[in-house]
Amino acid sequence: MKFYSTNRQSALASVREAVLRGMPDDGGLYMPERIPRLGKGFFESLRRMSLPEIGVVAGREFFSPEIPESRLEDMFVEALDFPVPLREVAAGLYALELFHGPTLAFKDVGARVMARLMGYFAADLERELTVLAATSGDTGSAVAHAFYGVTGIQVAVLYPSGQISRLQEQQIATLDGNIIPLEMEGTFDDCQRLVKEAFLDGELRRRCSLTSANSINIARWLPQSFYYFFAKGQLDPQDGSLAVSVPSGNLGNVTAGLLARAMGLAVDWFVVSVNSNRAAAEYLESGEYLPRPSLRTVSNAMDVGDPSNIARLMDLYGGRLDRMRDHIAAFGFGDEETLGAVASVYRDTGYVMDPHGAVGYLGLKRWRGERPEIERGIFLETAHPAKFREDVERATGMEVEIPERLAACLDKPKRAMRLPAKFSALKEFLLERSRDSW
Ligand SMILES: *Cc1c(COP(=O)(O)O)cnc(C)c1O
Repeated sequence: MKFYSTNRQSALASVREAVLRGMPDDGGLYMPERIPRLGKGFFESLRRMSLPEIGVVAGREFFSPEIPESRLEDMFVEALDFPVPLREVAAGLYALELFHGPTLAFKDVGARVMARLMGYFAADLERELTVLAATSGDTGSAVAHAFYGVTGIQVAVLYPSGQISRLQEQQIATLDGNIIPLEMEGTFDDCQRLVKEAFLDGELRRRCSLTSANSINIARWLPQSFYYFFAKGQLDPQDGSLAVSVPSGNLGNVTAGLLARAMGLAVDWFVVSVNSNRAAAEYLESGEYLPRPSLRTVSNAMDVGDPSNIARLMDLYGGRLDRMRDHIAAFGFGDEETLGAVASVYRDTGYVMDPHGAVGYLGLKRWRGERPEIERGIFLETAHPAKFREDVERATGMEVEIPERLAACLDKPKRAMRLPAKFSALKEFLLERSRDSW
C-alpha cells in the first residue's frame, strides 16, 4: 500500500517512508491510496477474534507485504496485551474502555503499536531516530512509555507548562534514558506548532532524523481503527442500529473509526463529541472550518483549537459535507454539563466516567434524543477516572483509588528541561543534543 498526502503536493510514500517521516513535506497528512473492504467472513467471525487477531486482518491490508504478516502478528500481540472491555452501563448503552494499558489512557493502544512499527524500520537506520511529540496531556505519557527503552529511537516530549495535571506531568517528566521531557512555556497549540515547524526545518531534519508520534503518524492512526471492529464483535449479533460516540480533540480517534466504517464496519452513526473547543463541531454544522486558540477544560486531553486530523476527515469524504452528515453528528459540551454527567451516571448506574468519557456519553445521549430509532450506543471511555481524580471525586462524592502503576511515578524526581515556546530555542536544544550523542 502506498500513501498520498492530503495536500497532494508530495510524492506517494511507502509504509516505511510514511512511518519514518510522520508527515509529508507539503504539510499534509498521509492517507492510504485505497481503502480496503474487508470480507463478509471477517465480519461474521469478529465475535471470536481477539484484538491482535483483528489487527492482523485489518492491518495487513495496509502494512503487508512491506512488513511480513508474521512480524505484524508478533507486534500486535505484544502491543495489545491488555483488555479492552465493552461494559454495559445501562440497557443498550455501552462504554468501550480503552484505558487499561500501561498509562491508563487510550493513547497506549496507538502508541504501543507505533513504537513497534517504528522500531522495525529504525533497526537498519545508521543514525538514531528522534521522535518529536507534542502533548496536551495523555499523548506524551503514552508515547514516552511505549518507546521507553526502544533502541535506536529517542523521544522528545513537548508539554505546556502548568496546563497538564500533576499526575500527567509526573508520568512524562520523570522518565530518562531515551526519553527527553520538555516543559514548554506556552500552550498545547504552541507545542504543536513548534513540532510542525521543526519538521519543515531542513537543517533539523538533516541532522536529527526527525519523525513524529502524534496521531498524524499512520503507525499510530491506523491501528486505532482495530478496536472499533472489536467492539462490534462484543455486541449481541442481533440487528439494531448503532451509534458510536468518540470524545474528540485532534480527531485521530474518530477518523480511525470512520476509516473502519469505510472498510465495511456496520455503524450507523458516529458522533464527534467535543468540549468547549468546538472547531470540528462548528465545521460539520456550518461547512466552514475556523481554527481557534485552544480553551482549557476539565477534559484537557481534548483541548485542541485546530485539530490536525480535520484534513483526514475532509479527505475521507472528498470535502463533501452532505456525505459526512449522512452518518456523522457533532456536539460540544461545557465543563459544567460534563461534570454533571459524571455525577448523574454514577448516581443512576454506579458507573464511574472520567471527564473525557463523559463528553462522549453526552454526545451519545444528545444524538439518541434526536434519533430515538437508534437502538444501541457505544461511547468510548478514553481515560481511567483516576487520571482526573479531583474532578471525578468532586462530582461523584466517592473516592477514586489510584492504580499502583500510576502511583509509582508520583514520588520520582522531575527531570524535565524547561524551554521558552520559541522555535529557535527548541532547534538549538535538539541540535545540541544530537551533537552530544555523536
Ligand atoms: C487524546 C485524547 C482524546 C482525543 O483523541 P483524538 O484522537 O485527539 O481526538 C480523548 N480522550 C483522551 C483521554 C485523550 O487522551
